[in-house]
Amino acid sequence: MADFMKDSDLKDRFLNALKGKAVDMVPALSVTQTGTLELMEKSGAAWPEANFNAEKMANLALAAHKFAGLEAIRYPFCLTVLSEAMGCSINPGRYDVQPFPGSQPFAEMAETLELPSDLAERGRIPVLADVTSILRERAGEEIPLIAGIEGPASLASRLLGTYNFLTWVLRKPELLRRCLEVTGAACSEYSAVLSEAGADAVCIVDGIAGPDMLDPKHLASLIKPEYENFCRAGKGMKLIHICGNSTSILKTLSECGFNGISIEEKVTDLPAAKKLVGKKVSLIGNLSSSGVMLTGTCEEVKNKAKECLEGGIDILAPGCGIAPKTPLSNLRALVDARDEFYSN
Ligand SMILES: [Zn+2]
Repeated sequence: MADFMKDSDLKDRFLNALKGKAVDMVPALSVTQTGTLELMEKSGAAWPEANFNAEKMANLALAAHKFAGLEAIRYPFCLTVLSEAMGCSINPGRYDVQPFPGSQPFAEMAETLELPSDLAERGRIPVLADVTSILRERAGEEIPLIAGIEGPASLASRLLGTYNFLTWVLRKPELLRRCLEVTGAACSEYSAVLSEAGADAVCIVDGIAGPDMLDPKHLASLIKPEYENFCRAGKGMKLIHICGNSTSILKTLSECGFNGISIEEKVTDLPAAKKLVGKKVSLIGNLSSSGVMLTGTCEEVKNKAKECLEGGIDILAPGCGIAPKTPLSNLRALVDARDEFYSN
């Protein structure tokens, strides 16, 4: 660990990279989930407990910085906290499976969906506030804290059911719009709880809003207004992760107010992607999580990472959630590749 850079520079570097300011090096970190089996072993904090217990969640999140050298602390490891707080039952998962929603509580009663007045007290939201405070205390002020949450579209698809969500885009757009206003407000309120507790950035993960699932014109008409509200509300950096090839929606996303957009390796032309988002928005990614990071050698990770850096990526990161079986050596190779890139 001695050869990692001084922690004192990490938060500045992260914030500067997101603000489009000059940085000495592109940060190397993850804005998507970081829990791996090796880190669970090293930290003594494993799933499923680490998805529910504040102390264990904090320990596992810290491990990705401590043992892999990732230059931010990213938590939690699932995308169910807000869904649970809004009424979904949650299946706790296993040591290598993330928790996942087990019900669609508003599928038959979407008209009744509203923002609970006690949202901040519900489900694991108080746990995540605690995790944030614990991490802030243990990591100090110098390491960026990034919290991941469900986005407005993903949250709506959980509460209403994916089939309803996708068909109501055409069949019941007004009802869906009203539901999205509620889920968008829930995202903003939860995000405020996290920033208040000390999170530097909140990353919404909204896979179902991507072009693989949703026509980009519906993203623009139905989801974009909620993204704009989310980005306007509260303090802290606002990031978004979209799975798949998001090239066709990058311009729309760049107009919402996000500081950074996290993209997968399916976005193959980085210079073109940068042109689409413009100078005000940082591009984060886009090393294949399920391919190179999970199954590649350290050399392969380094080569792909250097390609991302050559393509002009603003923050070097896995293109999606890190798979639990990803070798620790490959996480370190991501950071090493960045160091090598700048030392040549
Ligand atoms: Zn993804």
